[in-house]
Amino acid sequence: MTTPKQHRAQLWHSSGQCRTQCRTCDWAGAWQPSEAAAREEHRQHRRALGENVPPRAPSQAERLRAAEAAVERVRRLHTPAASHPVMAFITDQDEHCPTCTRDALAPVASPCPTLRALDGALPNSDYPTVQEAR
Ligand SMILES: [Zn+2]
Ligand SMILES: [Zn+2]
Repeated sequence: MTTPKQHRAQLWHSSGQCRTQCRTCDWAGAWQPSEAAAREEHRQHRRALGENVPPRAPSQAERLRAAEAAVERVRRLHTPAASHPVMAFITDQDEHCPTCTRDALAPVASPCPTLRALDGALPNSDYPTVQEAR
């Protein structure tokens, strides 16, 4: 049994773009906006030739961006909404959380526990921390 040849990339940079050229065969990638994109294209070339190429682990910066985007999606779900006048009259609440509120006559006040949990972990936040909101 022979070990499949590992195709290794040669990187080329030009005016902010990057491309890979295979050192093992005559394959060459297209110009890509980033080195990461060029490397990914070469990884796909290796997979196409039957190499078992493990997926690249995301960088710390990519994981941070993904985490911030997830927090933003949750925050958008729990953005305070103006309470209906009848609701405000019954419960004395001008704003409520539309996602946490299940019963219109028992609105969940804003910031809701989810928002407070998100903001409790952030120092220097404009929102009250969990402790301050109590
Ligand atoms: Zn190759
Ligand atoms: Zn909520």
